[in-house]
Amino acid sequence: MQKGKKDKGKEKKQLQLRGIPAAPGITIGKVYIVGVEDLLPPERNITEQEVPSEISRFKKVLESTRKEIINIEKKISKEMGVEQGKIFSAHLLVLDDPVLSEEVVTRIRKKKKNIETIFAEVLNKYVSVLSEARDEYLRDRISDITDVGKRILRNLIGGDTRGIEGLIDRSIVIAYDLAPSDTAMMHKGSVLGFATDIGGRTSHTAIMAKSLEIPAVVGLENITDIVMPGDTVILDGFHGIVIVNPTKRFIDQYEKEKKKHEHLEKQLIDLKFLPSETLDKRKIILAGNIELPEDVASVISHGAEGVGLYRTEYFFMNRKDLPTEEEQFNAYRSVAARIKPHPVTIRTLDVGGDKFLSQLDVPKDMNPFLGWRAIRFCLARPDVFKTQLKAILRASAFGKLRLMYPMISGIEEFRKANVVLEEAKSELRKKNIEFDKDMPVGAMIEVPSAALTSDALAKEADFFSIGTNDLIQYSLAVDRVNEKIAYLYEPTHPAVLNLIRMTINNGHKENIPVGLCGEVSGDIALAIILIGMGLDEFSSSPIAVPELKKVIRSVSFLDAQKVTEEALKMTTGTEILNYAKAKLMEMVPDIALMN
Ligand code: PEP
Ligand code: MG
Repeated sequence: MQKGKKDKGKEKKQLQLRGIPAAPGITIGKVYIVGVEDLLPPERNITEQEVPSEISRFKKVLESTRKEIINIEKKISKEMGVEQGKIFSAHLLVLDDPVLSEEVVTRIRKKKKNIETIFAEVLNKYVSVLSEARDEYLRDRISDITDVGKRILRNLIGGDTRGIEGLIDRSIVIAYDLAPSDTAMMHKGSVLGFATDIGGRTSHTAIMAKSLEIPAVVGLENITDIVMPGDTVILDGFHGIVIVNPTKRFIDQYEKEKKKHEHLEKQLIDLKFLPSETLDKRKIILAGNIELPEDVASVISHGAEGVGLYRTEYFFMNRKDLPTEEEQFNAYRSVAARIKPHPVTIRTLDVGGDKFLSQLDVPKDMNPFLGWRAIRFCLARPDVFKTQLKAILRASAFGKLRLMYPMISGIEEFRKANVVLEEAKSELRKKNIEFDKDMPVGAMIEVPSAALTSDALAKEADFFSIGTNDLIQYSLAVDRVNEKIAYLYEPTHPAVLNLIRMTINNGHKENIPVGLCGEVSGDIALAIILIGMGLDEFSSSPIAVPELKKVIRSVSFLDAQKVTEEALKMTTGTEILNYAKAKLMEMVPDIALMN
């Protein structure tokens, strides 16, 4: 389609889509659709013999586009009402217009050019004629025609070749799915936000978006079918809403909302230098989660006291080989040195699940989250594991490091991992290489069996860190990245809260500190309940730290304990969530109103 003739005439109709909020923030911009080329068809001459096959290609694409539109119409009508669905009924009328397709067929016979070129020509002609029309109804049809035209052109051109690396202008990325390795390549400078068809709130893609401070909405189911190149969208990462082709009124409203949030955030940042303690002076550590050494800046700027989870596997992504001991040592040392005197809790490689590394031959299991993942992989590949452990040990001489193993399912696995750690230590000793011989070694509690046997584990581990992202998926049997069952992913489910409480109590019986580093720690609604359970450390994405500090400083441990007690008497996740929200509103109204 020729530039400048696109979208002439009336504004396109606004459409509101609802998904799962993945990373907070509001952003407005043009879309960049991953996997879809710009709709400027390459012009090509064809022979007389090729004419029938070009026409038949056109007819086939008309048919597949027709099915695509019917499906979208059904879905939108069901979810958003018949009125919204009508937008797509109008598109069907355009598609079925015999005048348009006959003109395309006549022209292709006459001009002998490829179908994409001819179709774009005819489309442009229609748009020009209609934009001159006196009749308002006819002018209104321009946006329908351009939308259907783009859809047909997109299907004619095909070829899912465009990746995230092609992004140049600042845009909102739209994709069916993004792997954590894709997200790791995004830059705040060029990616204003992103929205995907699939995915859940605690998918690693969503977690990465929070670290990068890029607003994101996932699990929109069919946004890639709905948006077209050139569209503008509003993305509201607080509420999981995407508005396609918003009216000026909506844009103004969201601009205002965005400013309000920025203002409140600035106020909260002022708490940075105040201690993280309850009204009755119970100290609670507020740490930040990081994926890459660069994320340390955000930990510091948001006033977190250390790193409570360093997901080291991101250092292994987007490269063909494995990082050497030296490379890993340099990365870990830089994090340890910059965070000093605060501690850095470094987690050993957690590959598998939704995180794949091209250089490691980890087969895509049928149930990747239940398969060859994390500590299971590391114990089977002591070469990879020991290299990492040596790098961590060496880095421990340059700051305050704590080591933890992911996906521990019981005490035997913890002991086996420690055997490899001892080997790594003795190899370093032989070479007279320094390390912190008292570096604490902890277990992540993210498998229900570990929570249920946390009494035994607490006798051997130096600390616990509760990984609720996995603990919830494993205890409720809900895949954390599947948007279809996201409604069952309930952090306030009594089963989950009881496992958390059990872990904290068992840890405290053995005098070891217990932290929580899953996304639940940044879920402000749950903060009071967790404080009341006696959690020693919250480690969340750094952007959540200021709000958490405000909550901690606004409540007393005694009152929080009462809230926890009441909550645990309830029998459903919904009841507990509503109660927790009401208590937040009562005890910390400023924060409740922001969320
Ligand atoms: C968790 O499972 O809660 C966790 C922190 O680990 P990850 O999200 O990396 O699986
Ligand atoms: Mg986990």
